[in-house]
Amino acid sequence: MNKMFSFDNPMASVSAPTRDFLARQHGLFIGGDWVAGRSGERRAVVDPATGLEHASVTEGTSEDIDRAVAAARDAFENGPWPKMKPKERAAIVHRIGELIDAHGDEFAELDVLDEGSPWGVVRNFYVALSADHFRYFAGWATKLDGATMPVNMGGEWLAYSQREPVGVVGQILPWNVPMLMAAWKIAPALAAGCTLVVKPAEDTPMSALRLAELCREAGLPDGVLNVVTGAGAVGAALAEHPDVDKVSFTGSTATGKAIVRAAAGNLKRVSLELGGKSPVFVFPDADLDLAIPGVAEAVFLNSGQACTAGSRLYIHEDVYDRVLEGVAAYAEGLKLGHGFDPATNLGPLINRKQFDRVNRLMETGVSEGASIVTGGSPADGDGLFYRPTLLAGVTPSHTVYREEIFGPVISAMKITDETVTALAREANNTEYGLGASVWTKDLARAHKLAARIRAGIVWVNNHNQSDANFPWGGYKQSGWGREMGKSAIELYTETKSVAVYLGDQD
Ligand code: ADP
Repeated sequence: MNKMFSFDNPMASVSAPTRDFLARQHGLFIGGDWVAGRSGERRAVVDPATGLEHASVTEGTSEDIDRAVAAARDAFENGPWPKMKPKERAAIVHRIGELIDAHGDEFAELDVLDEGSPWGVVRNFYVALSADHFRYFAGWATKLDGATMPVNMGGEWLAYSQREPVGVVGQILPWNVPMLMAAWKIAPALAAGCTLVVKPAEDTPMSALRLAELCREAGLPDGVLNVVTGAGAVGAALAEHPDVDKVSFTGSTATGKAIVRAAAGNLKRVSLELGGKSPVFVFPDADLDLAIPGVAEAVFLNSGQACTAGSRLYIHEDVYDRVLEGVAAYAEGLKLGHGFDPATNLGPLINRKQFDRVNRLMETGVSEGASIVTGGSPADGDGLFYRPTLLAGVTPSHTVYREEIFGPVISAMKITDETVTALAREANNTEYGLGASVWTKDLARAHKLAARIRAGIVWVNNHNQSDANFPWGGYKQSGWGREMGKSAIELYTETKSVAVYLGDQD
């Protein structure tokens, strides 16, 4: 981005199409068109780095959810989408990916303004991956195979299974990494032939609204993708709606549990990607030039606002001091700032609630005995910036060891030559089970730990890398189901078994 950046006027960094888009009176996207919300109320969308409002969206209601679900149901029962030739559905999903790439700068601008992450990571990583996801899942539309099964019933039979779209899907999005999280959910559901009602997070709705327009441009039939903006109550209305067949959610574990309860009414299918407290192990034989920035970014990426943040850092005693010093120096070298400022490495926290939560947990951590190696306080000024923080001397009894902080805070612990089983027990000493990483050149140790850590994703010599073909999800209270790869297709399809009696054997 070769534009001048000014903190007082970040909009000066924004392209004309994005400016025009933001200036519109956004309605809800229902049945292939923009419609007004029933409440008439609007919600300001605010840049977390500056506190300035850059757009407003419609505050949806449960009545709006009723309308969106009705549109999705009609598109599912009567529209062309589920019955369309697979290659035609694939072509549309693929085209969405191409359009995301073509409008990549706009999506990155919207996410930087809504969420605050640095431009480079949003444009080159999150938005680029979002386009990849649509192209990858486009390929699945033509590969929704079933199987034939030999059966032992009397006479002659043909028994087979087929995959069918699960139906009308409600998708409730988180505020971190808004565009990519939308792509993770929307792309596989479309490939499977489902119709959708998407509820973006209230802090970060703009890229999902723009994506809805682009889907229409790509040829997605009316009513297949509906977007209703609004508060958590709008998500709750979707989760409990009796005519929704499945709900997919990414967000906090507490909200995930509320969604499970809400979904029980009609026993809709549920998939959840929730919190984490991911362990990271650094052994003496690790390539420390790779490991030190790697374990730092395992948390500082997105200012720690990632479900897989590697927030429990176990360092072997032989390299403890070097790693601690290295991570502290890395943290101190990070520049906090606006996502549009080319010098920025770390953005703000998303909102006051999260900011207060990080402050509160830090105060608790220190009062319980953790020591601050670096950071440990908000940045100067009255914004939502929190300094990248490294805590040492953390023990399993500390609140910061157990609770997800969702801020740029690493808790370091020293380990000795314990057995792999003992280390895995330590890693598993959490109610979560989302990610983990192991930094070592000893592949046997890496594989043994990978096998024993009860987490959905284990990285070796990296952390947080993702790919459309790499399943992602958690054990224990980190969630249900796996997004991406073939697993995501399984989330959005039902299996039907068909047994055809062919008559007596002759
Ligand atoms: P946070 O607590 O950090 O805001 P949440 O997990 O509560 O994170 O929010 C993630 C998403 O879930 C947002 O889109 C939010 O509006 C939505 N949400 C919040 N509460 C509920 C609820 N009770 N039912 C369904 N969705 C909800």
